[in-house]
Amino acid sequence: MVFFKNKDGSPDRWKEKYLRLLDDQEQIEKQYKANEELLCKTIVRFALAVKGLNRQLDPHLNRIRNLLKSGLQSELLQKELTAFSNALVMLEESSTAGQLDASMLFEFLGKQYPQWQDQLDEIQAKYEHRQFTTNQAFYLALLELIEDNNPTASIDLALELTGTDAKAINIQLIRLLDNAEIPLIFVEDAEKIKSRLHAEQALGPIFDDTVALLLAVKKHLESEQQEMAAFLSKLTDQLTELGVKATGVNAANEISVKKRNLLDQAVSEQIMELREKSENATQLEPLKQIVSTRLTTITQQIQAHNLQEQQERDKTQREMRALSERLREMESESSELRLKLDLAQHRATRDPLTNLPNRLAFEDRLADEMARCRRHKTPMSLMVWDVDLFKKINDTYGHKSGDKALIVIAELLSKHCRETDFVARFGGEEFVMILAGSDAKSALLVAEKLRKTVEKSSFNANGEKVFITLSCGISQFVDGDSNESIFNRADTGLYRAKQTGRNRCVVV
Ligand code: GH3
Ligand code: MG
Ligand code: MG
Repeated sequence: MVFFKNKDGSPDRWKEKYLRLLDDQEQIEKQYKANEELLCKTIVRFALAVKGLNRQLDPHLNRIRNLLKSGLQSELLQKELTAFSNALVMLEESSTAGQLDASMLFEFLGKQYPQWQDQLDEIQAKYEHRQFTTNQAFYLALLELIEDNNPTASIDLALELTGTDAKAINIQLIRLLDNAEIPLIFVEDAEKIKSRLHAEQALGPIFDDTVALLLAVKKHLESEQQEMAAFLSKLTDQLTELGVKATGVNAANEISVKKRNLLDQAVSEQIMELREKSENATQLEPLKQIVSTRLTTITQQIQAHNLQEQQERDKTQREMRALSERLREMESESSELRLKLDLAQHRATRDPLTNLPNRLAFEDRLADEMARCRRHKTPMSLMVWDVDLFKKINDTYGHKSGDKALIVIAELLSKHCRETDFVARFGGEEFVMILAGSDAKSALLVAEKLRKTVEKSSFNANGEKVFITLSCGISQFVDGDSNESIFNRADTGLYRAKQTGRNRCVVV
């Protein structure tokens, strides 16, 4: 059946046209589908490419990528794209608008806190004249104003603000949070508030919450600063104490002073570095870490130094001990030597048989006494004694008895003279005596007394009582005398005594 006819009467012309249109439509739809796919792919690639560039855009991009899975027609995707576009606009405004946006914030703050209008105007003027070096400083000034005047600032919900005003203020608040130095513990809260600021179109509790968070951050930073100051002062004390300990360690010999200076230098370098680092550090924990590491290094340096000094002290002490040991040995050697010397001197000046001074000692003493006489013009006499016929005693009783006789005579002469008189064995059976302070006359009296004492005495020789006598020559010191001259005169006296019958005393 034919309903229409073509002009040419052919009923199939419109049908062909319809089919052609259908083909065209199909073609267009295919093209459209391809374009849609390409667009989806492009958006996904774009989203992936810019991921991480901006924290505020990332959540939008994630959501867009997920929504693209269900095609471009999704209503949610439309909404999300609008939100993304808005976020981009806000981002652009916040990064480029700078000064201009603040007027909205000041307007809002002026309405909210009319009582501080003057201070707000002041801050605004400063801000507009770019007197704040950083945005941070500007926000801090605002924050301080709010904090000083009303720590529990609360938003007046009745305040009428248009959506655009609120949005602009929200952008300012986001910028404020972005610029603030947020400690780790507040980061999560700050992110939440920022999301809310992004999402909300009206000002309300979100303003209170933002201000409260910023105040909390400020308080935290202040308390951290106080803690840091306390910590630094404690650290200074510790370092001072350390320094005192270090300087008190050792006595002041030259080497240790040099070493001490090196240590001081090392410690001061460490302290300087510490001070520099602590001044640059804005967080307490890393600073504590730096300080603790440095302190450990300083302590190690001091310990190493002390150890070295201890070792050196020990070494010095060992050397001192060895030296004093050597000194003791030398002392004992020297006292032994002195004893030997004394003994040698004794032997050199004593006659071993009679224990009287010998001829050597006599000659020294005679020289001394004559010098004294010359100085003090005092008299002095010399006696020379000789045992009479001593040879006969030896011959009769033996040499030993002769020795015994000599010992007895020596004892008698020593015992019966004055303490100031000097008796010596001159040699053989001859004795000499120096009488300081005596002239020849008084010397003769002494000599006679001695001669008589010996004459009366006896000694035992082989059970026999033997008597002995002595002859004596005496001479007084005269000016110009020498040892020899005075002795020769006394000897002449002795000779004369022998000549004239022995057992007598003759003065020459
Ligand atoms: P004079 O009266 O003239 O002195 O007679 P003298 O016998 O004493 O004289 P002389 O010089 O002839 O003899 C001295 C003797 O003394 C000779 C010597 O053997 C003896 N003599 C000397 N020294 C010692 C001694 O240390 N011990 C003993 N036992 N005899 C000694
Ligand atoms: Mg003689
Ligand atoms: Mg004799």
